[in-house]
Amino acid sequence: MDAIYLDHNASAPLPAGFDEIASKLLRETFGNPSSLHGSGRRSRRVINDATEEAAAYLGCHHHQLFWTSGASEANSWVIHSALARARREHPERAPRLIVSSIEHESVLLAANAAEEGGAIVERCPVDAHGVARLDVLESLLLEPADLVSIMYANNETGVIQPVAEVARLCSARAVPYHCDAVQALGRLPLVLEGSGITYASFSAHKIGAPKGVGFLAVTAKGRLLEPMIHGKQQKELRGGTENPFGAAMAGRILQALRKGKLTYPATELSAMHRRFEGELRGLIPGTVVHGEGVARLPNTSFVGFTGIEGDGVLMALDLEGVHASSGSACTSGSTDPSDVLLAMGCDANMARSSVRFSSGWGTTWEDFEKVLQVLPAIVGRARAASKAKGPSPSRRNIEVQL
Ligand code: PLP
Repeated sequence: MDAIYLDHNASAPLPAGFDEIASKLLRETFGNPSSLHGSGRRSRRVINDATEEAAAYLGCHHHQLFWTSGASEANSWVIHSALARARREHPERAPRLIVSSIEHESVLLAANAAEEGGAIVERCPVDAHGVARLDVLESLLLEPADLVSIMYANNETGVIQPVAEVARLCSARAVPYHCDAVQALGRLPLVLEGSGITYASFSAHKIGAPKGVGFLAVTAKGRLLEPMIHGKQQKELRGGTENPFGAAMAGRILQALRKGKLTYPATELSAMHRRFEGELRGLIPGTVVHGEGVARLPNTSFVGFTGIEGDGVLMALDLEGVHASSGSACTSGSTDPSDVLLAMGCDANMARSSVRFSSGWGTTWEDFEKVLQVLPAIVGRARAASKAKGPSPSRRNIEVQL
């Protein structure tokens, strides 16, 4: 039995029709793109084409794109560059960064490291729906700042952030705006030119291209990037042999999307998710849909079920052939509550009891029907077990410590 894959926000499968393109590209891109011979030149051409394609899709210039090992690297690179620039241009004060409290951990941990190194880091809170508080951002921007980092759409809740307003506030104060647009790529309209976004980070594997590839767009002029990996490649700003195969796959998928040869079924997915959430609520009392009532990605339902541990439910779903997630892929496998839900004001039990279903190309209503068939019994068993057991050891420990 093929698994039902509802974890596209963690990583998306190859879109249908790309197998042959992938195997051809794999055969053709073995040459080192820095080599001068024909095999190297072929790999270089493939990267150049991919860069053109990604830039055409994003509405920016190909000179503004840099290939990375993924969005985590792109995010760290932006923060590293902002710190270096601040120290160079304003040696009289500590660098000051503003990040939203629901950023991906590659941003949050880079910000923590910056703080340990002497920077001031302000965390812009979100409201109960998971939307960044513009009023707080506005007041934080009254003092000099060197970077604002607020993502496009959250990977756990799917909640879309007020990117245009953030960009407007940042432009008014001439503060560079970094937008982690990983979950928006291919799913939401995205035009960088004129958007007011200074830096945007992307990851290839969220659109079905290989893992370990990403790109950073830098749309403004000036010295906005510092080398983080030293080497001759990519204008000596990002050294290391590029990944022609990975870049080409990302480029081909973006080209197909741009030309309408591949369609992201946003309307269909959105309708299926709304129906799924409605039916879940009817079948399982105490269902909470996080981020309900605000704009969300068409493909994401992050749902909490009072009185259970989300991880146990995930394992039971896995045994039924349903692959979902407890939120951020990096935290699955641990019983930590979702930081995003905690930032939205959820209590730790609810944050621990939540399961994310994220769909994409190839998902059908039958997939959701299967979940609706098995989930009520799984949640019922989990609730009964949790009642019989009492609070989990971790929660008991917290209570004892308190
Ligand atoms: N930013 C967001 C919003 C993500 O969802 C992810 C991946 O989960 C990343 C960054 C990291 O991307 P990568 O896996 O390419 O490092």
